[in-house]
Amino acid sequence: MFSMADDCPLCMIPDTKPAQLVEKGKYVYAAIPYAPIEPGHVMIVPYRHVRLKNLTPLELVELRDMTCFLEDKLVRLYPNNQPIDASMLGTKHASIPDHYHAHLIPSPANMNYLLAAYYGRSPERVILPESELEIMAQRLR
Ligand SMILES: [Zn+2]
Repeated sequence: MFSMADDCPLCMIPDTKPAQLVEKGKYVYAAIPYAPIEPGHVMIVPYRHVRLKNLTPLELVELRDMTCFLEDKLVRLYPNNQPIDASMLGTKHASIPDHYHAHLIPSPANMNYLLAAYYGRSPERVILPESELEIMAQRLR
């Protein structure tokens, strides 16, 4: 029914890892990753082995709906650790770069805190001068 890639763990979770499954939709599912960063860390994953740019409108709508549903649930379950939404794109940073998936990660503070906890860096925000921000913005325009 869905296009799958051989040996892709995200393609296999719905059929082989029922203990990790949280929700099953028509186009996307939610599951606990094998190495959660925090309690409540959950992934929202299309069944199809596709990158973000190849998701259909129906998949995108269900992805948004399931993300919002789980966000509300995490806020209720972990009121002091509200979730951060981090998407894994098709980059070398993603453990599975060709299968889009989003993470909702409960965190007691913002992204800086989470990155600091994960990478051992200072959680202090480094506010850059406007000239450096403009250089970054120009590069992305
Ligand atoms: Zn896959």
